[in-house]
Amino acid sequence: MRKKIVAGNWKMNKVHADAINLATEVIGSSYDGSVNLIVIPPAVFVSEITKIAASSKVAVGVQNTSQFEAGAYTGELCTAMIKSVGAQYALVGHSERRAYFNERNEVLAAKVKQVLKDELTPIYCCGEMLEEREKGNHFNLVKTQIKEGLFHLDSSQILNCVIAYEPVWAIGTGVTASSDQAQEMHAFIRELLTDKYGADTAQSISILYGGSCKPSNAKELFLNKDVDGGLIGGASLNTSDFIAIANSF
Ligand code: PEP
Repeated sequence: MRKKIVAGNWKMNKVHADAINLATEVIGSSYDGSVNLIVIPPAVFVSEITKIAASSKVAVGVQNTSQFEAGAYTGELCTAMIKSVGAQYALVGHSERRAYFNERNEVLAAKVKQVLKDELTPIYCCGEMLEEREKGNHFNLVKTQIKEGLFHLDSSQILNCVIAYEPVWAIGTGVTASSDQAQEMHAFIRELLTDKYGADTAQSISILYGGSCKPSNAKELFLNKDVDGGLIGGASLNTSDFIAIANSF
């Protein structure tokens, strides 16, 4: 059975007191436990939040990692550091990293490798911009992102990955992909995984949907057979919305 996952990407929001408050609320709240809950705060708060989460079922992730092992890379955080403070997950290739920090599939492939090397779980993000969907190029684009970012991995490595499909036109816009659009792309991604790694492996990999997911639409999205949960931006900044989404399976 695939893992059901709801992960909250806080992006560059919250100062210290607010971040600790939000983490404490999420960790102390009642969710039904049938889903793996992950909080992904700004990196500066991760160490403290992993301590608060230590005896709970909530896992902690980071929003970005370096593709390099260690050394003279001013301003970067490497996977060994992230692992050493207790984080378990790392986003790789969020569309904002791709758009504003020029992260290309080749660099993201190196990040995925590095994340796995230090035994963290990558949440590899993919998804098309609106113009690509309008041109009918969305399947090709996602196929290239998946092939170039992930297909250097062997079967045992890909089994330790999570994929997040996030159509860029739905992120932070209030416009959600329809349930059918989400299922169609998730099934397509699973087919790519099946062709490369075989059905057993493909059926074991969780594929999350991201893009304006909220309590009012989470249930419908999560009912789809290839949607294994959500990567949540805006709604993860509010405890009751985030927990309501987690309880939507
Ligand atoms: C995201 O940034 O990963 C995201 C899904 O954001 P939002 O939920 O705000 O659209």
